[in-house]
Amino acid sequence: MSSPIVTLRRPQDRGTESAPAKAPVPLTRRAYIETYGCQMNIGDSELLAGALADRGYLQVSAPELADVIVVNTCAIREHAEQRVLGRIGQLQQARRNRPDVVLAVTGCMAQRMGSDLLEKTSGVDLVAGPDSYRRIADLVDGIREGGIERGQLLLELDEEENYEGIPSIRGKGTGAWVTVQRGCDHRCTFCIVPYVRGPEKNRSPEEVLAEVRAAVGAGYSEITLLGQTVNSYRHGDVRFSELLEEVARVAGVRRVRFTSPHPNDVDDALLDVMAAEPAVCSQLHLPVQSGSNRVLRRMVRRYTREEFLEIVERVRSRVPGIALSTDVIVGFPGETEVDFEATLDLMRRVRFDDAYLYRYSAREGTPATRLPAGDFLDEEISGRRLSALIALQREIQREIHESEIGSVVEVLVEREARTEGDLLGRTEANKVVVFPAGRVRIGAFVEVRLRSTTGATFLGTVVR
Ligand code: SF4
Repeated sequence: MSSPIVTLRRPQDRGTESAPAKAPVPLTRRAYIETYGCQMNIGDSELLAGALADRGYLQVSAPELADVIVVNTCAIREHAEQRVLGRIGQLQQARRNRPDVVLAVTGCMAQRMGSDLLEKTSGVDLVAGPDSYRRIADLVDGIREGGIERGQLLLELDEEENYEGIPSIRGKGTGAWVTVQRGCDHRCTFCIVPYVRGPEKNRSPEEVLAEVRAAVGAGYSEITLLGQTVNSYRHGDVRFSELLEEVARVAGVRRVRFTSPHPNDVDDALLDVMAAEPAVCSQLHLPVQSGSNRVLRRMVRRYTREEFLEIVERVRSRVPGIALSTDVIVGFPGETEVDFEATLDLMRRVRFDDAYLYRYSAREGTPATRLPAGDFLDEEISGRRLSALIALQREIQREIHESEIGSVVEVLVEREARTEGDLLGRTEANKVVVFPAGRVRIGAFVEVRLRSTTGATFLGTVVR
């Protein structure tokens, strides 16, 4: 069944959006976009939907219905790339007997693999990196009309490209992703991002605020500001803390989050805004990656374990009760049992509310792949360490969540839960709560008493 994106923007559904005054292009063709990876990629898919809609492409929900199929990919781990390669094979089936359909692969994996992607797969017509989306509709049209050959590569990184002027077309939901920064100036040795997304580029505060106002006008009450190191944002004299404050004060914004910050850029000005602005959620993602100074140095994370712990202390003292989450990579080349113990110890000390835990994945072209061959760990060792870390974090999370049972929290209702008759929402601390629907509507803010926890998720009942 097709789900035309234009219906999501009807005023009766989402209020009146202050869209730029532009004659609408008739939506005569259809695009299917499938997204892999992080929130930045979700934001980019919304941008791609906007760029294609500008040229008359209506978004549909199944590849069989589309004139162009876009697979927006992630390169952060090998596993993610393998999944996409498998999926490209399946999508060939979806366009069997429809030779006019264009299959485009976009995003970080497209940028990383380039022409290899054309060689390793059959039937990919267009490979486009994260700075090429403005041109994608031209290429798709040209390929469909026969004026441009299949097998095109659009891979230039553009230091100026911020996609100003292309309105995103957002998916269903209560929250809007707003990209404020693209690219990254750091060079963490495990990370492919700087090579596939280029250096940091920051959007103007005016453009960001206009997008936030448009999103609020369209009915979104929660805004998440996105950037690879979002809190290093700077545009002219405007720092991230100032941008955040402005966004939080836009009428109609009930909640603001941001991801992913770099620990080194958590300054007092940012914490002051977090403490003072009611709309800024009391929640912070603070990627640590390792608890060992030796590993942090080899990762070039630019902080020590002690400095990270000091940042956590400062955050907690200035924003009491804040929920913290993190990312950790285990099995980085050369990680010893002592290093891993230091990570476990850091996790016990900080007691994060949530953690995204991964096994190191070597990404060709990153500095870590050039470490001595003998440093690379057996999968058995890194797998065992990952399991131990997951077990520890689950225990910590369960203890934290059990201590919260009985409290009443405000929940933004996001969608129906898997259990029939229940709804699912998130607290300000970004914790998931499932509760009987009653008369509650999706998109509403309700007060929910937390009754029990499965460890990660809460079960509750609406009190107001
Ligand atoms: S800060 Fe490090 S981990 Fe984050 S995107 Fe930049 S290079 Fe990658």
